[in-house]
Amino acid sequence: MAANRETIITIDGPSGGGKSTVSRMVAAELGYAYLDTGAMYRAVGLQAQRLGVDLADEKQVKAMLAELDLRLEPANGDTRVLLGGEDVSATIRSAEMGMVASAISALPLVRQKLTQLQQQIGARGRVVAEGRDMGTVVFPQARHKFFLDASPEERALRRVAQLREQGEEAAYEVILAQIIKRDHDDSTRAAAPLRPADDAVLVDSSRLNAREVTRFIMGSLQ
Ligand code: C5P
Repeated sequence: MAANRETIITIDGPSGGGKSTVSRMVAAELGYAYLDTGAMYRAVGLQAQRLGVDLADEKQVKAMLAELDLRLEPANGDTRVLLGGEDVSATIRSAEMGMVASAISALPLVRQKLTQLQQQIGARGRVVAEGRDMGTVVFPQARHKFFLDASPEERALRRVAQLREQGEEAAYEVILAQIIKRDHDDSTRAAAPLRPADDAVLVDSSRLNAREVTRFIMGSLQ
């Protein structure tokens, strides 16, 4: 693990803080892989929903995870998510799947499984890993850690615009309420709660666009 510490960049933070765009940009500039771990939680959420898994039943969750066939493939600077061979990249992007992912991500069994997969993917280094616990749990040895935050209102505005772009109509108040709930759930859960690593650089992106944040991150890598 020590060998790759220089070439793992972790970017954590709450939803809507601009992590995805910035992570993609940094990965593209460096020629590194982009690891979208939120997509992995979303895909497991989708699988649980499809199978009708009762999240309170450990046996059912275990059985689902044992059979899980989740693969990530790079696709034009983005990530294609394959669940049982099916491309679910678009399906997992809805606001509803974000809530499902948040619920399932509180389960220690799920976190264990995905942490393992993420460490396997990152083992060779040269990766920009985006999520909630990249700097704290999955890649604590990474040398370059960033925590991106912005006000809930600013993040809700961005999320509404993003969903509209994807053809999904979304009301600002509904999205803001979801963001506040998700922030609360993500940061108060017992397993890998959302928090900056002690050695992470905090970036407030409320007044910075993705290009500016990317420039800042690239500048701090020297
Ligand atoms: O980043 P994204 O919105 O796609 O993540 C969906 C949900 O997955 C988050 O709300 C969070 O609960 C969970 N997640 C997590 N740990 C990660 C990435 C995402 O708990 N590393």
